Amino acid sequence: MDQYILALDQGTTSSRAVIFNKKADIISIVQQPFSQHYPQPSWVEHDAMEIWATQLGSAQMAIAKANISPTQIAAIGITNQRETVVLWDRETGMPLHNAIVWQCRRTASFCDELRLQGHEELIQKKTGLLIDAYFSASKIRWLLDNVPGAREQAKEGKLAVGTIDSWLIWRLSQGKLHVTDPSNASRTMLFNIHNMVWDDELLDLFDIPHLILPKVVPSSAIVGETAVEVLGASIAIAGIAGDQQAALFGQGCLSRGQAKNTYGTGCFMLLNTGDEPIKSTQKLLTTVAWQIAGQKPQYALEGSVFIAGAAIQWLRDEMQIINSAAESEVLASSVADTGGVFVVPAFVGLGAPYWDQYARGIIIGITRGTNRAHIARATLESIAYQTCDLVKALCVDANCKVKELRVDGGATSNNLLLQIQADILGTRVIRPKMVESTVAGAAYLAGLACKYWAGTDELASLISSEATYFEPKLSLEIRVANYKKWQRAVKRASSWDVAEDYS
Ligand code: ADP
Repeated sequence: MDQYILALDQGTTSSRAVIFNKKADIISIVQQPFSQHYPQPSWVEHDAMEIWATQLGSAQMAIAKANISPTQIAAIGITNQRETVVLWDRETGMPLHNAIVWQCRRTASFCDELRLQGHEELIQKKTGLLIDAYFSASKIRWLLDNVPGAREQAKEGKLAVGTIDSWLIWRLSQGKLHVTDPSNASRTMLFNIHNMVWDDELLDLFDIPHLILPKVVPSSAIVGETAVEVLGASIAIAGIAGDQQAALFGQGCLSRGQAKNTYGTGCFMLLNTGDEPIKSTQKLLTTVAWQIAGQKPQYALEGSVFIAGAAIQWLRDEMQIINSAAESEVLASSVADTGGVFVVPAFVGLGAPYWDQYARGIIIGITRGTNRAHIARATLESIAYQTCDLVKALCVDANCKVKELRVDGGATSNNLLLQIQADILGTRVIRPKMVESTVAGAAYLAGLACKYWAGTDELASLISSEATYFEPKLSLEIRVANYKKWQRAVKRASSWDVAEDYS
């Protein structure tokens, strides 16, 4: 009987389960959304039991939809929203509180204090991260401090904490496994990415007892089995990775110098830096990409753009110059260029490499002939320019040239965007046939560990088949001149909203 890989993709708004065959084709896919909780402005929580219920439900339905027996699943791979944490009781298996989601800002002032106390350098050196409420450590501390009795119970070894991968594996194994992988661990701000252990000095700083943390196991290894009752068979759990790292793997960016960019609401770019954790001078993050059992950990540099596809939503919902995201391509294609217009969508400030929280959006270069098509095209260009800024920052840090960019995410259905991206970067852009890179990455990690796929060479050939290539067409001269104009536009948007302006 044919064997398959089941991949679980536990995202921020939905839980998905996907079944892959030997050719890495998707056989069935089931998605279940779950509720978002906003107990206070800027606080975000998920019900960890609802996460589990939707994840289990989608896995069961995906198996039924594929019309296969659970015994035909060779292994399970898991990818997940990163940084989000769950604290649960080891005996009852029940969470003590809602999961605190990566987006939640409740610990922002604590993080400001840490920065003021001068811990930034130490934390960056050990974890590759910049101090921010985004990462798990301050969230775990908050749970221990604010859930009545939690700190005492934690010290007595009664509690377990983990990112979503840990929580799901604990549930899948009915409490037998309390593990995480280095890609997830490296987003907690408690993990030393150089010697690959929970760091005692950081645990002290955040006042978190070691014994509540999961054991760190490789991203690709058979780490245990599911309990038979859960899915109707004992299935190997063999792949674990945070969503962006899984996407890097799923895109086949398996060697140093290869990069992927995901174009969703924002953009997430990762550059594989091989077995070297490169410390960023450009305010990018250094992170563990994955670790395959018996091999050295692989690292990545990561940068993100806050507003990418969201700028297209803005064109649609606020500006109302398009009716659908897809229409942005039709409208922007109706003009040959932007007519000199630049849009800087700094709606919430600018991220890497600018890090200017007071920047605000601008449209500049408008003339009497400017129409909505020019603005739509300039908005698409803004996504590509911001990506180009990230590529340049990554290249400075890694001292390398990105020869091609692999892309995925909702906005990559826009061919014009990808052509513009190739032109602005002066680099080939590759969109694989498999646009579900994240969940595919989890499947590949699991399939490698259980020898479902022979090795990374077999995976690489599966991934590269039937990709679409976008080759740069713009002359170097025009490319350089346009990029300079973009930088001038960014300067004008910079620090727009500073308080002094109002005095
Ligand atoms: P996320 O995972 O962040 O929710 P998705 O990967 O689902 O995002 O992508 C959705 C985003 O992509 C939206 O912001 C939307 O505006 C944008 N988008 C979708 N289709 C297109 C398109 N054809 N052209 C440009 N942007 C698009």
